[in-house]
This record gives sequence, C-alpha cells and structure tokens, in this order.
Amino acid sequence: MHSAPQLPLRCWAEIDLAALERNLKLIRASLPPHIKYVAVVKADAYGHGLHQTVARLMHAGADLFAVANVTEAAAIRELGPGWPVLVLSPLLPEEDKYLVDYDLTATVSTPDEVDRFDSIGRAADHVVAVHLKIDTGMGRLGVWHEQAGQLYEHIRKARHVRLDGAFTHFSSADEDPAFTDEQRRRFLAALRRCPGLELGRLLIHADNSAGLETSHGEQPFNAVRVGLLQFGILPHPHSMLARVHTEPVFSFRTRVGLVKRLPAGTDISYGRTHTLNRDSIVAVLCAGYGDGIARACSNRAHVLIRGRRCPVLGRVTMDQTIVDATDVPGVQCGDEAVLVGRQGGAEISIAEFSTWSDSIPWETLCSVTKRVPRIYKTSLGL
Ligand SMILES: *Cc1c(COP(=O)(O)O)cnc(C)c1O
Repeated sequence: MHSAPQLPLRCWAEIDLAALERNLKLIRASLPPHIKYVAVVKADAYGHGLHQTVARLMHAGADLFAVANVTEAAAIRELGPGWPVLVLSPLLPEEDKYLVDYDLTATVSTPDEVDRFDSIGRAADHVVAVHLKIDTGMGRLGVWHEQAGQLYEHIRKARHVRLDGAFTHFSSADEDPAFTDEQRRRFLAALRRCPGLELGRLLIHADNSAGLETSHGEQPFNAVRVGLLQFGILPHPHSMLARVHTEPVFSFRTRVGLVKRLPAGTDISYGRTHTLNRDSIVAVLCAGYGDGIARACSNRAHVLIRGRRCPVLGRVTMDQTIVDATDVPGVQCGDEAVLVGRQGGAEISIAEFSTWSDSIPWETLCSVTKRVPRIYKTSLGL
C-alpha cells in the first residue's frame, strides 16, 4: 500500500490549538472561579473544525458545550462522555428522540416543546434535560420574559423533563450597552417570577463574547457562553473594552501562483474592473471566492506578501485573485500570501478582512469553504 503523497497546500487555514487553550484559560481567569464556562462551538466550531477544537477545549477545562443542532451535538458526544451538550436551536419533531439517544440538553421556549420532550422521555424511561430560554428583547427564541413564570410551572409539572438551566441572549451587546442592561434587568425579573428556581443547582447564563466585554466584570449569573472571544477575536474591531487579551487562533493563507509584468493602462480581471495606473508587477494568488475570499472584496481587500500590503486588483474570481505586487522586492511564484493573520511585522485581522466584504468575523469564519484544509498547529506553545 502506498500512502497518498503529501500535496503542497495552495490555500489553507492554520488553527493554533495552543492559542485556543491559552484563550480559554485567560477568559476563565478574568471571571470569578465559580462561573461555569459554556463553550459555543456551533457551525464546525466557527469554521475551526469541531473535533479538534472540542477535544482541546475539553482538555483546557470547558464545563459545557453549546451547538446549533443535534448533528453537531452527536459529534461532540462521540468525542467524550461527561460534558453536558446544550442544543441552542429548536428541534424538528423527528429530532426529539436524539435527545434521549445522545443524552443531550434541549432549549425550550414553548409549552408545546415541553410536552414533546416529556412524552419522548416517558416512552424511553429517560429524563430529558432542558434549559429554559427567556426572550428579553431579541424576538427570536425563548418565552417572552413576561410569561416566563407560566412556562417554568409547565416544566415543573412535566415528570420526564428536568430543568438544568435558564438563559437569555443579548441582541445588541456590542453596540447598545443601555439596552443590554435593560435585557439583564428583564432577565433577572423573569427569574424572580419562577419560584423555587435557585442559582445553586441551575445554570443561569446570559453573556456572549460582547456581553462579557460590557459586563464590567460583574457576574450576576453563574455561567457564560463564549464563542468568538475564545478564538481570539473581539466582537467589534474598535473594541476598547477588551479586558482579556486573547490571541487569534485562526489564520488564512495562500500562495502566489504566478508573477508577471503588465504595462500601465491595461484593464484587467473580469469585467475589466481595474486599470493599472503604472507599469506593474501583478501576483496571481491560488485562492478566490471558491475558497472563501468574498467577491465583495474585489478592488478592496489587501493581502500580505513578504510582509507588505498588496491591494486586490479587480474582481476576485473563483480560483484566483490578482494583487498588485509592484512594491514587493523579489516577489516570486510560491511565496506565501496572508489573507488573515500575521507576516513579518504586518497583520490583517479577521475584523479588517470582514469589513472589505461588509461582513462580520462570525460570517467570515463560516465562509471559508470545504476546499480549504484546516492545518492544526499542535505545539504546546509554552
Ligand atoms: C452563537 C451564540 C453565542 C456565542 O456568541 P459569541 O458572540 O460568538 O460569543 C452565545 N449564545 C447563543 C444563544 C448563540 O447563538
């Protein structure tokens, strides 16, 4: 048997698992010790790769995992027993039985869901764990905060459903601290309408990454739900609130496939969308929108080659992107080009990269395609 040849990488995402572990420990250290850490790893752990990310977070001390659906939850369950896995999205009726099969924790927003989970639990002689979700103004999931008391009573009456937690989600934590404070007040008031709900046994959580930044270090609850920040990304580019100095886990890299000279005045790329204003050296990169460089980056983004910023010229195409490398001494075929990350003393953050497609880091991470291998740096990073 021959093993497959190790083909060179044309475009890849580098994932620094040691940085991920350091980030979790830094975030933990910034919080009082009794606060539980819910690691949010939906959407393939924000594009970082579910298996590797979750395995490292288990090792680093995450208390609980939160995902979007039962498929993601089952994948975590296969990696290790013992960690509660909370499914954040509503379940389709035919998915209910997997709560039992994989011993998952569901989110409930309606009495109907409680009845469904109760009957599935009764049939399997199993108690289904749930977290009560309270809508404090997002208008998406959860029982409206004024009606939380009724849903709580409904859960208490269901013999095969056990309440393990309650939570809410902030809709504007990164842009409207006053409304976020109002949401905190609504959440606390709703909890008071649930007699017998004690903080001791239940997990009460509200803060996502942006919430953590604006919570002034106070934690009226006993758990946090962290997604973006554990990957070393601040919820908004100009965050001055950063209390925790996390480092990026993800970088996005490609190579120069071709270098050539073109005369001033040439109109280049699809639609002839860029006119060279000088005699130029262009570098053709081995990546395009088929890899996750949004077409909206056309004529806007920059990449790093040999530590210098090179503007994208004209439209991003499916498999290639043209950049201006005139000012890069010695540029040649095979050079590494950094789309997101550091090179020499220069850096392009994922926040900056996202602005070039009018996007946000969360979406950018979800847009790196399947063609892009995730390469794991597994050093201890000590
Ligand atoms: C995605 C998500 C989070 C994590 O948010 P970040 O901003 O990435 O920290 C927390 N809670 C819920 C309900 C989510 O859907």
